[in-house]
Amino acid sequence: MSMEKIYDVLVIGGGVAGMSAGIYAKRSGKSVLLIEKFALGGQVLSLSRIQNFPSQSEIDGFTLAQMFSKQVKELGVEILSDDVVSVDFSKETKIVKCKKNVLSAKSVVIATGMASVELEKNENEFLGRGVSYCAICDANFYKNRPVCVASKKGSGIKDALMLSKIASKVTLLDSEDMSVYAKANKVGNLEVLSKIEIQAVKGNSQLEKLEINRDGRQETLQTSALFIELGKKPSTQLFEGVLKLDEKGFIVTDENMETSVKGVFAAGDVRSGVLKQIVTACGDGAIAGQKA
Ligand SMILES: Cc1cc2nc3c(=O)[nH]c(=O)nc-3n(C[C@H](O)[C@H](O)[C@H](O)COP(=O)(O)OP(=O)(O)OC[C@H]3O[C@@H](n4cnc5c(N)ncnc54)[C@H](O)[C@@H]3O)c2cc1C
Repeated sequence: MSMEKIYDVLVIGGGVAGMSAGIYAKRSGKSVLLIEKFALGGQVLSLSRIQNFPSQSEIDGFTLAQMFSKQVKELGVEILSDDVVSVDFSKETKIVKCKKNVLSAKSVVIATGMASVELEKNENEFLGRGVSYCAICDANFYKNRPVCVASKKGSGIKDALMLSKIASKVTLLDSEDMSVYAKANKVGNLEVLSKIEIQAVKGNSQLEKLEINRDGRQETLQTSALFIELGKKPSTQLFEGVLKLDEKGFIVTDENMETSVKGVFAAGDVRSGVLKQIVTACGDGAIAGQKA
């Protein structure tokens, strides 16, 4: 794909907000291209049980994502598998540069959602080979094996407790002082370590060990997996200095989902708003797709 075609609407991000925007824009007669770097569904793909999406008493995220993507494809929204690396919103025609393509459009809907906070060491070298950002998705690969959870101020506790039912041993490595929690909550195979800095992730074809700093002392921990559970942050790095962001980095919009730049809209978790849920992401996407 190239800049030759000027789309009516480019949607960046194929989570539920982006797919809803695609549905509404396409149904109002616009040419629409949706760009997704991983898989259609976004965060929903990792949810095992959703009980608050209206019309479904309970549904798993993978099934819900499939239902969304089926509708988007059947409507004829063009889907591009690519990673947006920069944007130029300075002119009336907006330019979106991806790793493999350069695209242009009259309007853009940003629906890049939220992403996991990284350790910012070498952990991503072992992604899918011992390192995971989704305990629910990957826990079963490490059945009866020792695993670690990277945590900040207790952010990994819920997943560590879940993993303790599957793994042989779970070591929670928290960067803060968790001694009160460690004393109060004793689960047989869960150990909570405080004031840990994970310095390096080591192994060959698979993750084998972690090098950690434990309250000033260097140690090595043997493990078969590291689950990184340090919380989420808005995926807005591309828009810093381009769009107005709030103090936490979310994109500020008006009630039409329009950002500080005319013709550029934002929807879903990436937008500054009070509730970050599937139903609100869909509502944002509907408005953005209609107004774009
Ligand atoms: C543990 C957990 C449990 C939850 N449980 C519920 C629940 O029970 N009910 C509920 O309603 N909500 C729940 N939520 C919240 C819900 O999942 C989100 O509010 C919703 O999925 C947000 O959708 P989104 O489309 O805005 O963003 P996302 O799902 O984050 O989608 C963003 C998409 O953009 C893509 N993207 C990002 N950057 C780029 C780029 N540069 N180029 C191309 N593509 C890009 C990403 O790959 C991703 O697919 C839960 C969330 C979590 C983390």
